Amino acid sequence: MGRSSNNRKSRSDSTIYESLINKGFSRRDFLKFCTSITATLALPVSFTSKVAEALEKSQKPIMVWLEFQDCAGDTESTLRATAPTIGEVVLDVLSIEYHETIMAAAGHQAEKSLMDVVANHPGKYLAVVEGAIPMKDGGVYCCIGGKSAVNIAKEVCGNAMATIANGSCAAFGGIAAAEPNPTGAVGVRDLLPGIPLINMPGCPVNVDNLIAVVVHLLTFGTLPATDKLLRPYFAYGKRIHDNCERRGHYDAGQFVRQWGDEGHRQGWCLYEMGCKGPVAFQNCPTIKFNEGTSWPIQAGHGCIACAAPRNWDDMAPIYAKVPSVPGFGVEASADKIGLGIAAASGAAVVAHGIGRMVSGGKRPKDD
Ligand code: SF4
Repeated sequence: MGRSSNNRKSRSDSTIYESLINKGFSRRDFLKFCTSITATLALPVSFTSKVAEALEKSQKPIMVWLEFQDCAGDTESTLRATAPTIGEVVLDVLSIEYHETIMAAAGHQAEKSLMDVVANHPGKYLAVVEGAIPMKDGGVYCCIGGKSAVNIAKEVCGNAMATIANGSCAAFGGIAAAEPNPTGAVGVRDLLPGIPLINMPGCPVNVDNLIAVVVHLLTFGTLPATDKLLRPYFAYGKRIHDNCERRGHYDAGQFVRQWGDEGHRQGWCLYEMGCKGPVAFQNCPTIKFNEGTSWPIQAGHGCIACAAPRNWDDMAPIYAKVPSVPGFGVEASADKIGLGIAAASGAAVVAHGIGRMVSGGKRPKDD
């Protein structure tokens, strides 16, 4: 108990609750966190006590964090903040045994600590993967300590209690897998189908969602329910367009037509500027980023559907209007659209089937 927050590699027998209290958080802070994480998980408020009870009893889970073909954006998103929040501290008090970016050890010493976890705690540690895995030419395009990412992932994720594919590259290959995909990059699921895995796409991942998955695992002993793409419903079950603060402008036919025009200054809808919110699923509008400060659409840029598979190919160009798919109304599910868009790739753009005409409003012009 009472380890230094800088000693990220250490592991103790203290529970998460004890670690938080030792770091100066009050019981009230702790309960506020439990309430907020219960809401993020879309659980009834009555589950707050169950979450609290689990965190009071759970010891810090051992975690290893692998980085392959990545930009470290998910690490940055997770670790860099203007002020530490209790959620960040929950990550801090996880027993992170291996993380290239934050660990003090280097070289063979670092790689040994990773293999020690695999050897000494099989089936008992969490693996987080950031970045895609290059399969081409024997996996030579990403090697760490003389081992390919392919072999590291097989060994580490194959023996983990569960793996979190953190960010779009680990989930679906991301930008590394965009055509022509010169390194044969894939996400974890393509390499290791069948392992206990959850996909947390996003560019970057939202750390609140990542924490919620870990808390769910600690509370219920299972990963949260997911869609067919292995994305948890609590974070990816709702369409951005349906929760967007600019939706009223969409319905009223008020669109930004040019960057910096009057509509842009007024915060109108970004559909005409290529916003992919009508076919994108994530809880960005409700939980936002940077401690709930803002999110891309609030900041004035359209959604790029970063949590969708092949978004760099199927949703491109970024500033072109969404490739509409007929038959998807406001009741569409993530499964339908997530898979439907991929299937529709390359098809001619057809009439926009999502919007509603309103009196006096102008329907977006179809390409
Ligand atoms: Fe929001 Fe984009 Fe939908 Fe407009 S098109 S309402 S900006 S999500």
